[in-house]
Amino acid sequence: MGKTLAGKVALVTGGSRGLGAAIAKRLAHDGAAVALTYTSSPQKADEVVLAIEAAGGKALAIRADSADVEAVKHAVAETVNTLGRLDILVNNAGVLAVALIDQFSMDEFDRLVAVNIKGVFVATQEAIRHMGEGGRIIMIGSVSSDSTAFAGTSVYALTKGAIASFTRGLARDLAPRGITVNNIQPGPIETDMNPAEGNFADGLKKIIALGRYGQSDEVAGLVSYLASPEAAFVTGANLKIDGGFTA
Ligand code: NDP
Repeated sequence: MGKTLAGKVALVTGGSRGLGAAIAKRLAHDGAAVALTYTSSPQKADEVVLAIEAAGGKALAIRADSADVEAVKHAVAETVNTLGRLDILVNNAGVLAVALIDQFSMDEFDRLVAVNIKGVFVATQEAIRHMGEGGRIIMIGSVSSDSTAFAGTSVYALTKGAIASFTRGLARDLAPRGITVNNIQPGPIETDMNPAEGNFADGLKKIIALGRYGQSDEVAGLVSYLASPEAAFVTGANLKIDGGFTA
């Protein structure tokens, strides 16, 4: 049987570590050529590229801070120039800062908005210039846009709530062009951002119905489905993958 994404090109923002690295590898496994961005971990990004190439795939790492409009535009252009086209954009790069509202600095607020919202807007606006029928925009939002189990995440939740709303509006904008737009909302997934061990994690696990953190590969599986031709009728959806964290 042919690979579901053979001949397609994907761009995954923040693909050097965590969810983005797993997503990049999974899309490559499905047959796509994959570009991935990073900011501070060139070595990790190279490791992802080498792993994809070792498995017979094609990949490209691009340094591009999602908070930098010109860098994001350049990443989209470099993807198309090097890999020939663009079919799938995964807006995965994101940052978390935890502080109560009275202690939240303006700098941190601006950083979260720049990476988690503005970076997504710019990447999407640039990517759709190159996408045709069958194009896919996949956001990595968060369950925190719908529910928050603890204090200190109000600004992060604000940014992820914006992504859920943006997804619905974009689905309407892009449906006439045959491009689907969906938002994956993970619960706690074991990554550098959210380590699965420690006091904080132990408290979270008590709230997760399945009693454990999710794995990046499990989220990558849902990305793989949304990117596939099989998911052509799914658009404007905000899809939780949270082990029952919000059940
Ligand atoms: P990690 O912190 O483990 O990895 C973040 C990745 O994004 C890295 O590849 C990092 O690159 C990249 N990145 C960070 N900032 C920027 C930036 N300014 N520009 C470009 N790339 C950047 O995070 P996760 O894998 O856990 O999170 C990925 C996404 O999933 C985020 O949007 C997050 O909000 C969301 N999410 C995560 C959950 C979790 O429990 N882990 C739950 C719900 C949502 P570099 O290596 O160069 O720093």
